[in-house]
Amino acid sequence: MKLEYKQYDLKLKHIFKISRSSRDIVPVIIVKIVKDGVVGYGEASPNARYEETMETVKEFLDAIDPAKLSDPFRLEAAGDYVDSIAPGNPSANCAVDIALHDWICKRLNVPLYEFFNTDKDQAPVSVFTIGIDTPDNIVRKVKEAVNYPILKIKLGVPNDEEIVEAVRRVTDKPLRVDANEGWKSKEEALEKIKWLSAQNVELIEQPMPASQIDDMEWLRERVSQKSFRGRMPVIADEALSLYGVSELSAAYDGINIKLQKNGGLVKTRRLIHEARNHNMKIMLGCMIETSVGITAAARISPLVDWNDVDGNLLISNDPLEGVRNEKGRLYLSDKPGLGVSPNIV
Ligand code: MG
Repeated sequence: MKLEYKQYDLKLKHIFKISRSSRDIVPVIIVKIVKDGVVGYGEASPNARYEETMETVKEFLDAIDPAKLSDPFRLEAAGDYVDSIAPGNPSANCAVDIALHDWICKRLNVPLYEFFNTDKDQAPVSVFTIGIDTPDNIVRKVKEAVNYPILKIKLGVPNDEEIVEAVRRVTDKPLRVDANEGWKSKEEALEKIKWLSAQNVELIEQPMPASQIDDMEWLRERVSQKSFRGRMPVIADEALSLYGVSELSAAYDGINIKLQKNGGLVKTRRLIHEARNHNMKIMLGCMIETSVGITAAARISPLVDWNDVDGNLLISNDPLEGVRNEKGRLYLSDKPGLGVSPNIV
Protein backbone atom coordinates (compact mmCIF):
# COMPACT_ATOMS: atom_id res chain seq x y z
CA MET A 1 0.00 0.00 0.00
CA LYS A 2 1.36 3.38 -1.01
CA LEU A 3 -0.10 6.80 -0.28
CA GLU A 4 1.11 9.64 -2.52
CA TYR A 5 -0.07 13.20 -2.91
CA LYS A 6 0.51 16.20 -5.09
CA GLN A 7 -0.52 19.85 -4.86
CA TYR A 8 -2.42 21.53 -7.69
CA ASP A 9 -3.07 25.26 -7.88
CA LEU A 10 -6.53 25.60 -9.37
CA LYS A 11 -7.10 28.74 -11.41
CA LEU A 12 -10.52 30.30 -11.06
CA LYS A 13 -12.24 31.53 -14.22
CA HIS A 14 -13.35 34.61 -12.24
CA ILE A 15 -12.10 35.95 -8.92
CA PHE A 16 -14.45 34.24 -6.45
CA LYS A 17 -15.75 36.58 -3.79
CA ILE A 18 -18.04 35.71 -0.89
CA SER A 19 -18.99 37.87 2.09
CA ARG A 20 -15.72 37.15 3.98
CA SER A 21 -13.06 36.45 1.35
CA SER A 22 -11.87 36.71 -2.25
CA ARG A 23 -9.67 34.26 -4.19
CA ASP A 24 -8.31 33.68 -7.70
CA ILE A 25 -6.09 30.62 -7.07
CA VAL A 26 -7.17 27.69 -4.91
CA PRO A 27 -4.54 25.11 -3.95
CA VAL A 28 -5.80 21.54 -3.49
CA ILE A 29 -4.15 18.18 -2.93
CA ILE A 30 -4.86 15.07 -4.96
CA VAL A 31 -4.17 11.87 -3.02
CA LYS A 32 -3.42 8.52 -4.66
CA ILE A 33 -3.68 5.22 -2.83
CA VAL A 34 -1.94 2.44 -4.74
CA LYS A 35 -2.23 -1.25 -3.93
CA ASP A 36 -2.13 -4.36 -6.10
CA GLY A 37 -1.90 -2.21 -9.21
CA VAL A 38 -5.20 -0.45 -8.40
CA VAL A 39 -5.16 3.34 -7.90
CA GLY A 40 -7.72 5.16 -5.74
CA TYR A 41 -8.00 8.94 -6.06
CA GLY A 42 -8.99 11.39 -3.36
CA GLU A 43 -8.88 15.14 -2.87
CA ALA A 44 -8.40 17.67 -0.08
CA SER A 45 -9.56 21.24 -0.62
CA PRO A 46 -8.68 22.88 2.72
CA ASN A 47 -10.48 25.97 3.93
CA ALA A 48 -9.06 28.51 6.38
CA ARG A 49 -12.57 29.04 7.81
CA TYR A 50 -12.18 25.51 9.24
CA GLU A 51 -8.56 25.95 10.32
CA GLU A 52 -6.95 24.00 7.51
CA THR A 53 -4.20 25.04 5.09
CA MET A 54 -2.04 23.30 2.51
CA GLU A 55 0.59 22.86 5.22
CA THR A 56 -1.76 21.25 7.74
CA VAL A 57 -3.05 18.84 5.08
CA LYS A 58 0.47 17.82 4.03
CA GLU A 59 1.54 17.42 7.65
CA PHE A 60 -1.48 15.25 8.32
CA LEU A 61 -0.96 13.06 5.24
CA ASP A 62 2.74 12.67 6.11
CA ALA A 63 1.73 11.34 9.54
CA ILE A 64 -0.35 8.50 8.04
CA ASP A 65 1.23 5.05 8.12
CA PRO A 66 -0.04 3.45 4.87
CA ALA A 67 0.45 -0.02 6.39
CA LYS A 68 -2.47 0.79 8.71
CA LEU A 69 -4.70 1.16 5.63
CA SER A 70 -3.52 -2.05 4.02
CA ASP A 71 -7.03 -3.54 4.01
CA PRO A 72 -9.03 -0.77 2.31
CA PHE A 73 -12.25 -2.78 2.65
CA ARG A 74 -12.18 -2.06 6.38
CA LEU A 75 -13.40 1.47 5.72
CA GLU A 76 -14.69 2.24 9.22
CA ALA A 77 -11.47 0.98 10.84
CA ALA A 78 -9.44 3.04 8.37
CA GLY A 79 -11.52 6.09 9.30
CA ASP A 80 -10.97 5.44 13.02
CA TYR A 81 -7.21 5.14 12.45
CA VAL A 82 -7.04 8.35 10.42
CA ASP A 83 -9.17 10.14 13.05
CA SER A 84 -6.79 8.98 15.77
CA ILE A 85 -3.84 10.83 14.19
CA ALA A 86 -5.15 14.27 15.15
CA PRO A 87 -8.52 15.93 15.73
CA GLY A 88 -10.05 18.12 13.02
CA ASN A 89 -8.35 18.08 9.60
CA PRO A 90 -11.60 17.25 7.76
CA SER A 91 -10.35 17.82 4.20
CA ALA A 92 -7.26 15.64 4.78
CA ASN A 93 -9.56 12.94 6.20
CA CYS A 94 -11.84 13.40 3.21
CA ALA A 95 -8.99 12.86 0.73
CA VAL A 96 -8.10 9.50 2.27
CA ASP A 97 -11.74 8.43 2.59
CA ILE A 98 -12.55 9.20 -1.06
CA ALA A 99 -9.38 7.44 -2.25
CA LEU A 100 -10.30 4.31 -0.25
CA HIS A 101 -13.80 4.27 -1.74
CA ASP A 102 -12.41 4.70 -5.25
CA TRP A 103 -9.93 1.87 -4.66
CA ILE A 104 -12.55 -0.52 -3.22
CA CYS A 105 -15.03 0.07 -6.04
CA LYS A 106 -12.36 -0.33 -8.71
CA ARG A 107 -11.28 -3.58 -7.07
CA LEU A 108 -14.93 -4.74 -7.00
CA ASN A 109 -15.43 -3.38 -10.52
CA VAL A 110 -18.55 -1.41 -9.56
CA PRO A 111 -19.34 2.29 -9.84
CA LEU A 112 -19.54 4.11 -6.51
CA TYR A 113 -23.31 4.75 -6.82
CA GLU A 114 -23.85 0.99 -7.03
CA PHE A 115 -21.68 0.44 -3.94
CA PHE A 116 -24.00 2.94 -2.17
CA ASN A 117 -27.08 1.29 -3.66
CA THR A 118 -28.40 4.58 -5.04
CA ASP A 119 -30.12 5.40 -8.32
CA LYS A 120 -27.72 7.55 -10.30
CA ASP A 121 -30.60 9.14 -12.21
CA GLN A 122 -32.02 10.57 -8.97
CA ALA A 123 -29.22 13.13 -8.47
CA PRO A 124 -30.93 16.55 -8.13
CA VAL A 125 -30.10 19.22 -10.71
CA SER A 126 -27.12 21.24 -9.48
CA VAL A 127 -26.96 25.01 -9.14
CA PHE A 128 -24.34 27.22 -10.74
CA THR A 129 -22.78 29.67 -8.26
CA ILE A 130 -22.32 33.39 -8.87
CA GLY A 131 -19.86 35.06 -6.46
CA ILE A 132 -20.15 38.63 -5.20
CA ASP A 133 -19.20 41.17 -7.86
CA THR A 134 -20.04 44.54 -9.41
CA PRO A 135 -23.46 44.73 -11.06
CA ASP A 136 -21.89 44.77 -14.54
CA ASN A 137 -19.81 41.66 -13.82
CA ILE A 138 -22.84 39.93 -12.28
CA VAL A 139 -24.75 40.54 -15.50
CA ARG A 140 -21.85 39.08 -17.50
CA LYS A 141 -21.55 36.00 -15.25
CA VAL A 142 -25.30 35.35 -15.29
CA LYS A 143 -25.25 35.51 -19.10
CA GLU A 144 -22.35 33.03 -19.14
CA ALA A 145 -24.42 30.70 -16.93
CA VAL A 146 -27.30 30.71 -19.42
CA ASN A 147 -27.32 26.89 -19.60
CA TYR A 148 -27.83 26.36 -15.88
CA PRO A 149 -31.47 26.34 -14.75
CA ILE A 150 -30.88 27.32 -11.09
CA LEU A 151 -28.38 29.89 -9.84
CA LYS A 152 -26.87 30.22 -6.38
CA ILE A 153 -26.16 33.85 -5.59
CA LYS A 154 -23.67 34.85 -2.92
CA LEU A 155 -24.94 37.77 -0.82
CA GLY A 156 -24.33 39.15 2.67
CA VAL A 157 -22.91 42.52 1.63
CA PRO A 158 -24.38 46.03 1.88
CA ASN A 159 -25.42 46.12 -1.80
CA ASP A 160 -27.28 42.77 -1.87
CA GLU A 161 -30.32 44.36 -3.52
CA GLU A 162 -28.17 45.83 -6.28
CA ILE A 163 -26.69 42.37 -6.97
CA VAL A 164 -30.09 40.67 -7.17
CA GLU A 165 -31.46 43.46 -9.35
CA ALA A 166 -28.51 42.92 -11.71
CA VAL A 167 -29.35 39.19 -11.88
CA ARG A 168 -32.99 39.97 -12.51
CA ARG A 169 -32.13 42.28 -15.41
CA VAL A 170 -30.91 39.15 -17.25
CA THR A 171 -32.96 36.19 -16.00
CA ASP A 172 -36.06 35.18 -14.04
CA LYS A 173 -34.78 31.65 -13.24
CA PRO A 174 -35.05 30.44 -9.62
CA LEU A 175 -32.30 31.59 -7.26
CA ARG A 176 -30.85 30.15 -4.08
CA VAL A 177 -29.14 32.66 -1.82
CA ASP A 178 -26.10 32.11 0.39
CA ALA A 179 -25.39 35.00 2.77
CA ASN A 180 -22.31 33.26 4.28
CA GLU A 181 -23.09 34.74 7.77
CA GLY A 182 -23.16 38.24 6.25
CA TRP A 183 -26.32 39.61 7.92
CA LYS A 184 -25.33 40.52 11.44
CA SER A 185 -28.68 40.96 13.20
CA LYS A 186 -31.97 39.07 13.11
CA GLU A 187 -33.83 42.22 12.13
CA GLU A 188 -31.51 42.84 9.18
CA ALA A 189 -31.81 39.20 8.09
CA LEU A 190 -35.62 39.34 8.28
CA GLU A 191 -35.75 42.51 6.16
CA LYS A 192 -33.40 40.99 3.57
CA ILE A 193 -35.36 37.74 3.38
CA LYS A 194 -38.68 39.61 3.09
CA TRP A 195 -37.30 41.49 0.12
CA LEU A 196 -35.77 38.33 -1.43
CA SER A 197 -39.01 36.39 -1.09
CA ALA A 198 -40.49 38.53 -3.85
CA GLN A 199 -37.54 37.70 -6.14
CA ASN A 200 -38.22 34.01 -6.89
CA VAL A 201 -35.69 32.87 -4.29
CA GLU A 202 -36.09 29.21 -3.22
CA LEU A 203 -34.03 29.12 -0.02
CA ILE A 204 -31.56 31.02 2.14
CA GLU A 205 -28.28 29.55 3.33
CA GLN A 206 -26.57 30.70 6.54
CA PRO A 207 -28.21 34.13 6.89
CA MET A 208 -26.43 35.06 10.13
CA PRO A 209 -23.18 34.25 11.95
CA ALA A 210 -22.97 30.56 12.81
CA SER A 211 -22.98 31.18 16.58
CA GLN A 212 -26.29 33.15 16.58
CA ILE A 213 -28.50 30.09 16.88
CA ASP A 214 -31.09 31.76 19.15
CA ASP A 215 -31.48 34.60 16.65
CA MET A 216 -31.87 31.99 13.91
CA GLU A 217 -34.68 30.35 15.82
CA TRP A 218 -36.42 33.74 16.04
CA LEU A 219 -35.84 34.33 12.33
CA ARG A 220 -36.99 30.92 11.21
CA GLU A 221 -40.22 31.23 13.20
CA ARG A 222 -41.01 34.33 11.16
CA VAL A 223 -39.90 33.23 7.68
CA SER A 224 -41.69 29.90 8.02
CA GLN A 225 -45.08 31.56 8.60
CA LYS A 226 -47.63 30.72 5.95
CA SER A 227 -48.43 34.41 5.79
CA PHE A 228 -44.84 35.02 4.82
CA ARG A 229 -44.68 34.98 1.05
CA GLY A 230 -43.77 31.52 -0.11
CA ARG A 231 -42.37 30.24 3.20
CA MET A 232 -38.61 30.37 2.96
CA PRO A 233 -36.46 27.39 4.05
CA VAL A 234 -33.30 28.37 5.92
CA ILE A 235 -30.27 26.13 5.66
CA ALA A 236 -27.29 25.82 8.02
CA ASP A 237 -23.83 25.69 6.52
CA GLU A 238 -21.12 27.33 8.65
CA ALA A 239 -23.27 26.58 11.76
CA LEU A 240 -22.77 22.87 11.14
CA SER A 241 -19.22 23.19 12.45
CA LEU A 242 -20.51 24.54 15.79
CA TYR A 243 -23.69 22.59 16.50
CA GLY A 244 -25.03 19.08 16.24
CA VAL A 245 -27.97 18.17 14.05
CA SER A 246 -30.52 18.06 16.89
CA GLU A 247 -29.63 21.61 18.03
CA LEU A 248 -29.71 22.87 14.45
CA SER A 249 -33.08 21.29 13.80
CA ALA A 250 -34.70 23.84 16.16
CA ALA A 251 -33.40 26.77 14.12
CA TYR A 252 -32.96 25.60 10.53
CA ASP A 253 -34.95 23.58 7.99
CA GLY A 254 -31.93 21.83 6.56
CA ILE A 255 -28.16 21.50 6.48
CA ASN A 256 -25.57 21.95 3.77
CA ILE A 257 -23.16 19.02 3.95
CA LYS A 258 -19.79 19.15 2.23
CA LEU A 259 -17.52 16.14 1.96
CA GLN A 260 -14.47 18.36 2.54
CA LYS A 261 -15.86 19.84 5.76
CA ASN A 262 -17.31 16.63 7.01
CA GLY A 263 -14.33 14.31 6.53
CA GLY A 264 -15.50 12.27 3.53
CA LEU A 265 -18.14 9.80 2.41
CA VAL A 266 -18.48 7.50 5.44
CA LYS A 267 -19.10 10.42 7.81
CA THR A 268 -21.34 12.20 5.32
CA ARG A 269 -23.60 9.18 4.92
CA ARG A 270 -23.88 8.97 8.72
CA LEU A 271 -24.77 12.66 8.91
CA ILE A 272 -27.38 12.32 6.16
CA HIS A 273 -29.11 9.56 8.15
CA GLU A 274 -28.96 11.62 11.33
CA ALA A 275 -30.43 14.68 9.61
CA ARG A 276 -33.24 12.60 8.09
CA ASN A 277 -34.08 11.33 11.57
CA HIS A 278 -34.63 14.97 12.55
CA ASN A 279 -36.79 15.63 9.46
CA MET A 280 -34.23 17.97 8.02
CA LYS A 281 -33.68 18.70 4.35
CA ILE A 282 -30.24 18.16 2.92
CA MET A 283 -28.19 20.19 0.52
CA LEU A 284 -24.97 18.70 -0.76
CA GLY A 285 -22.40 21.46 -1.15
CA CYS A 286 -18.79 21.67 -2.18
CA MET A 287 -15.65 23.78 -2.08
CA ILE A 288 -13.66 24.84 -5.10
CA GLU A 289 -12.53 21.33 -6.05
CA THR A 290 -11.35 19.31 -9.02
CA SER A 291 -13.45 16.61 -10.64
CA VAL A 292 -12.20 14.13 -8.02
CA GLY A 293 -14.02 15.74 -5.09
CA ILE A 294 -16.97 16.88 -7.19
CA THR A 295 -17.50 13.43 -8.72
CA ALA A 296 -17.39 11.83 -5.26
CA ALA A 297 -20.11 14.26 -4.14
CA ALA A 298 -22.16 13.67 -7.28
CA ARG A 299 -22.00 9.94 -6.62
CA ILE A 300 -23.83 10.22 -3.28
CA SER A 301 -26.08 13.09 -4.31
CA PRO A 302 -29.07 10.85 -5.14
CA LEU A 303 -29.49 10.80 -1.32
CA VAL A 304 -30.07 14.57 -0.98
CA ASP A 305 -32.72 17.20 -1.77
CA TRP A 306 -30.59 19.99 -3.26
CA ASN A 307 -27.35 19.73 -5.16
CA ASP A 308 -24.72 22.41 -5.09
CA VAL A 309 -21.78 20.58 -6.61
CA ASP A 310 -20.41 22.96 -9.21
CA GLY A 311 -16.93 23.68 -7.77
CA ASN A 312 -15.17 22.14 -10.77
CA LEU A 313 -17.07 24.37 -13.20
CA LEU A 314 -15.50 27.48 -11.69
CA ILE A 315 -11.91 26.46 -12.50
CA SER A 316 -10.05 26.61 -15.81
CA ASN A 317 -7.38 23.94 -15.20
CA ASP A 318 -9.13 20.85 -13.81
CA PRO A 319 -6.44 18.15 -13.85
CA LEU A 320 -8.98 15.32 -14.11
CA GLU A 321 -12.24 14.47 -15.80
CA GLY A 322 -15.21 12.98 -14.01
CA VAL A 323 -18.91 13.68 -13.66
CA ARG A 324 -20.38 15.44 -16.69
CA ASN A 325 -22.51 18.47 -15.87
CA GLU A 326 -24.95 19.35 -18.62
CA LYS A 327 -27.28 22.23 -17.88
CA GLY A 328 -26.97 21.43 -14.16
CA ARG A 329 -27.88 17.78 -14.63
CA LEU A 330 -25.18 15.42 -13.37
CA TYR A 331 -24.36 12.51 -15.63
CA LEU A 332 -22.49 9.70 -13.89
CA SER A 333 -20.62 7.13 -15.90
CA ASP A 334 -20.75 3.38 -15.27
CA LYS A 335 -16.98 3.27 -14.85
CA PRO A 336 -15.85 1.54 -11.64
CA GLY A 337 -15.04 3.67 -8.60
CA LEU A 338 -15.45 7.41 -8.88
CA GLY A 339 -15.05 7.17 -12.63
CA VAL A 340 -12.46 9.94 -12.87
CA SER A 341 -9.95 9.65 -15.66
CA PRO A 342 -6.54 9.06 -14.15
CA ASN A 343 -4.36 9.81 -17.15
CA ILE A 344 -3.21 13.30 -16.17
CA VAL A 345 -2.36 12.97 -12.47
MG1 MG B 1 -22.61 28.11 2.04
